[in-house]
Amino acid sequence: MSQTLLAPKVKVNQKWQLWINGKFEDGASERTLFSPATGKELCKVSEASREQVEKAIKAARKAFDEGPWPKLTAAERAQFLFKLADKIDEKASELAELETINGGKPLRESQYDIADSANCFRYYAGLITKPSGQAVNVPAPSFSTVVREPIGVCGQIVPWNYPLLMAAWKLAPALAAGNTCVLKPSEYTPLTAVYLAKILEELELPQGVVNIVLGDGPTAGQPIAHSNLVDKVAFTGSVKTGKAVAQAALGNLKKVTLELGGKSPMVVFSDFDVDTAVDYALFAIFCNAGQVCSAGSRFIVEESIYDTFVSKFVARAKKIRVGPGLDSETEMGPLVSETQMKRVLEYIQIGQKEGAKLELGGEQLKGGKYGEGYFVNPTIFSNVKPNMRIVQEEIFGPVAVVQKFKGESEAIKLANDTPYGLAGAVFTSDVTRAYNVIKAIKAGITWINGYHNTYVECPWGGYKQSGWGRELGTFGLDAYTEIKQINLNLDPQPIGWFE
Ligand code: NAD
Repeated sequence: MSQTLLAPKVKVNQKWQLWINGKFEDGASERTLFSPATGKELCKVSEASREQVEKAIKAARKAFDEGPWPKLTAAERAQFLFKLADKIDEKASELAELETINGGKPLRESQYDIADSANCFRYYAGLITKPSGQAVNVPAPSFSTVVREPIGVCGQIVPWNYPLLMAAWKLAPALAAGNTCVLKPSEYTPLTAVYLAKILEELELPQGVVNIVLGDGPTAGQPIAHSNLVDKVAFTGSVKTGKAVAQAALGNLKKVTLELGGKSPMVVFSDFDVDTAVDYALFAIFCNAGQVCSAGSRFIVEESIYDTFVSKFVARAKKIRVGPGLDSETEMGPLVSETQMKRVLEYIQIGQKEGAKLELGGEQLKGGKYGEGYFVNPTIFSNVKPNMRIVQEEIFGPVAVVQKFKGESEAIKLANDTPYGLAGAVFTSDVTRAYNVIKAIKAGITWINGYHNTYVECPWGGYKQSGWGRELGTFGLDAYTEIKQINLNLDPQPIGWFE
């Protein structure tokens, strides 16, 4: 064990229950969570039966149809969300510790996530009180207005890589708009969602406005996507599950937004400073151990600097300090679960069998400070071909592939050559080239000479199989509203259409 390991203040050994209709209750079963940093048992959490999920949906339905929340003024809902943001800030150190203990990421990353979560609630609290809708100049004697209204009951299913932040991205705009919610965190990382429920209870959120159900996809997620009482489902996760959620939603044609995976390119031209490009490349792929939907996982590098880029990338990646998230020295933590670790190691084997050159890493780190934790060291492949599985498929771990290009059009072709379209970046000193390349990349989130900056003010989501719709920014609020036109007849005379 490292000597700099922090002693967490937060208590993990407590009851982790469901929160339904404003009350905590035990689930029908129990799951044991394991620490990603040690592989040892962490705690037990209660999980919902399908009936409990139905109960949560009914509570949200009642809260929407009969409760006070949708009828509050925007300013009143904003006031609640501002208080919630302040409370998250007040509890930030405990929340950050929980996120690190549960999901494994370094504490400094968790601290960012918690601050971002509070800011997301603040942003939507502010946005909801700003002017919206349209006044339309239609032929007299009508006067038309267009207003936005809440959709109703929103089912929200989130993954394990940013547990509280993904919950905030969904709850904040939904609540600001006046909806009610059933949130299902990932079965791997439910702890901060339950902690959030405690905060919501303390702030006296009206009953049933938010319900938090714990459990796996088939038992707790699928009934939400399927239910006729749910008006919208917002999902973040893998493409495969996203497709299942969209299918299940067809029953009542509920509104669907999907934030799915990616295999995002970072294109590097030879006119850009190679050391700076390498610095961003490390951040693009090894932040959160590569478990980031928008991770830059394909580096598409101009032929003339390819070898230099690879050798500098390898040299810097070698120095990354891998270790437990609670160790203040740690720069990259473990993967979230044994399953995820095995999946990543399997992809590394596939890459080697496919003939790619393993330049660095590719192993589980064990013993010493790694114990039986789920650590995989930074891994870099060169000499890859576009059709290899490690180039085409999302690995969701600390695994980079470095591709070679000659000329702008080949760079663009390679960048777009996967089924995904979440994010992308280009590094060049030529502003015209930068703009042309970024315009040609089919992705919803792009950067020029940078990577990973995420702004609550800007829309988040993907082209192609990376999803449907957008979260964040004004677009994220729109996605939680229906649009209604109201036509007012200012001179109601008989119309005389029929004699
Ligand atoms: P996952 O698809 O396995 O699970 C996501 C959530 O869906 C979990 O809560 C899970 O319990 C639930 N689920 C599983 N089966 C379900 C079903 N049949 N019906 C309803 N819900 C079901 O994904 P994951 O492994 O938790 O997360 C990693 C994936 O998430 C990656 O592909 C990553 O790219 C993606 N992701 C995307 C974004 C984005 O904004 N685009 C952000 C974070 C993660």
